[in-house]
Amino acid sequence: MDNYIKFLQIVDDDLRKIFDYQKEYLFCKEGCSHCCKRGDFPLSELEFTYLMQGYDNLHPEIQCKIKENVENVKNGDRDSYICPFLINEKCSVYKYRPIVCRAFGVLTEDSKGNPSFPFCTTLGLNFSQIYDKEKKGLSSELASKGNFKIYPKIFRLSNNVFMNLPLAKELNLNFGEGKKMIDYLETKF
Ligand code: SF4
Repeated sequence: MDNYIKFLQIVDDDLRKIFDYQKEYLFCKEGCSHCCKRGDFPLSELEFTYLMQGYDNLHPEIQCKIKENVENVKNGDRDSYICPFLINEKCSVYKYRPIVCRAFGVLTEDSKGNPSFPFCTTLGLNFSQIYDKEKKGLSSELASKGNFKIYPKIFRLSNNVFMNLPLAKELNLNFGEGKKMIDYLETKF
């Protein structure tokens, strides 16, 4: 697990730079937890094991709430649910959260190479000066109107990209199988 923690520290540093770089164009509103309320939160076995370390460190009352949440998710829509670890609008396992949670909010690219905004942008839940609500996409007009120094660079970030980083090989990480969070919670919780 030590090497995975090292990996996360380096990834977090790089993500911080990316979020800082794009903040002129897109950033999360403070206190928003919408990204934890809609998704299937895919993660690898290694990430799940670390997440469970975070759970083990929680107060028993919070653990009880999480257990209840897990039961609710099992009986609901397994493709899109509120993350069971979201307690009082905050991540109860923040330090241990999976990679998908760390990278959420970055302006990325879809499979065709077009800019892809996080879904919350379309709901007006985060801040973007370059999102055209009518066209539902990046607006070069708004970017030039805003007199931004640079056109935003798009990053291609997916779980696979992170897991195949040379750094992961250097640290000899074995991520194991990727699954929806609820699938791991059902079998290994
Ligand atoms: S693990 Fe934490 S950050 Fe990730 S979706 Fe759940 S509550 Fe949100």
